[in-house]
Amino acid sequence: MQTPPSSDAATAPSAPRKVSFVSLGCPKALVDSERIVTRLRAEGYELTRTHAGADLVLVNTCGFLDSAKAESLAAIGEALAENGKVVVTGCMGAEPEAITEKFPNVLAVTGPQQYESVMEAVHRAVPPPHDPFLDLVPPQGVKLTPRHYAYLKISEGCNNRCTFCIIPKLRGDLVSRPAADVLREAEKLVAAGVKELLIISQDTSAYGVDLKYAASVWRDREVRAKFLDLAAALGELGAWVRLHYVYPYPHVDEVIPLMAEGRVLPYLDIPFQHGVPSVLTRMRRPAAQEKTLQRIARWREMCPELTLRSTFIVGFPGETEEEFSALLDWLDEASLDRVGCFKYEPVKGAPANDLGDAVPEDVKEERWHRFMQRQQTISARRLKRKIGTRQQVIIDEASPGFAKGRSKADAPEIDGVVRITSRRPLRVGELATVKIDRAGAYDLHGTAVGF
Ligand code: SF4
Repeated sequence: MQTPPSSDAATAPSAPRKVSFVSLGCPKALVDSERIVTRLRAEGYELTRTHAGADLVLVNTCGFLDSAKAESLAAIGEALAENGKVVVTGCMGAEPEAITEKFPNVLAVTGPQQYESVMEAVHRAVPPPHDPFLDLVPPQGVKLTPRHYAYLKISEGCNNRCTFCIIPKLRGDLVSRPAADVLREAEKLVAAGVKELLIISQDTSAYGVDLKYAASVWRDREVRAKFLDLAAALGELGAWVRLHYVYPYPHVDEVIPLMAEGRVLPYLDIPFQHGVPSVLTRMRRPAAQEKTLQRIARWREMCPELTLRSTFIVGFPGETEEEFSALLDWLDEASLDRVGCFKYEPVKGAPANDLGDAVPEDVKEERWHRFMQRQQTISARRLKRKIGTRQQVIIDEASPGFAKGRSKADAPEIDGVVRITSRRPLRVGELATVKIDRAGAYDLHGTAVGF
């Protein structure tokens, strides 16, 4: 880094402007936040942890469910009360009136991925500090996740029209990044110490459809913008590669051999949402008619180590007791490892609201409990099979004698953890071999036996 000549008043750096940043919502929103933070840091803004004393508060909102909207509005209200200068961005920015009606004092509201507009709003409120000699941003950008893992967004938007979802309205149709672009970002992340890449998008297995799978040049060769080709190329980088938001389209079968060969993690996050064709059709889910149970069985034959995580919705409009019990049977047969479940919540603007036949709240509640109970037994049984095995674990937290990490079967923030006792102190981001001693309902416990 160069040092500015101290006598030159014209180029003397001014005091850094401070921005307090609130990031709400899903990993996709987190990636947007990282981009905004990277831009802020590149322009010399400083980030602070508290609203008080900041020159501006930037709130990246989530507008998916009504509960998420309420959380976003509460965060905006808090920022206004504690600071007064607030810019709002993110999914809720697609409906600015919902914010400005309640908070007419916000300085600006911009929509999802409108990086330029967010930065313009920031510049208007707090002009950037002038310091031509400083380059504050490392080449891989600024990550909000710990240094050893990072989310990598491969596309934006979605071509599906699931009836409960307004994401395509908020974010538009699928727009994929060229493969070389994704791979270059992945390379930079790995060079900066990232050990695990979490691949995200709205519909990962549809990657490249909009580009007609066009190839781009990376490391002197052509890589097609195709789910399989991108996964294989990412697998060359020497980091763990974890695939999220994959739909069970037939071509997903092709990546299972990469998992069996250890090139990408044997882990698939597939938001099934339901298991019964009649409900999936009402949800207008992609791959609603696929024979998913057969497909899962085949994947497990090809890659016995495969971990499957999913999310479900119970109490979708019109869901009968018969359909719900069929879902429980489906769950038994699918024997998934990790599962989240939501009670159906109507989202303003979603076509499912017009289906009628709403399931009463107490029935939703009762179904949610039955679902969770059934799955808990399945998850516990799947975890128990690991007792006595040795698992490679990436360390997320470490203190003398004890550490917390995740095996290849555990994604950060959504899955369980491995609690480790170790004679030698472990370091955050390191990979350790852990012998599994016991299993709880969600987590594993073990002893470090190799480093
Ligand atoms: S696949 Fe369905 S639920 Fe997912 S973003 Fe697209 S429309 Fe929404």
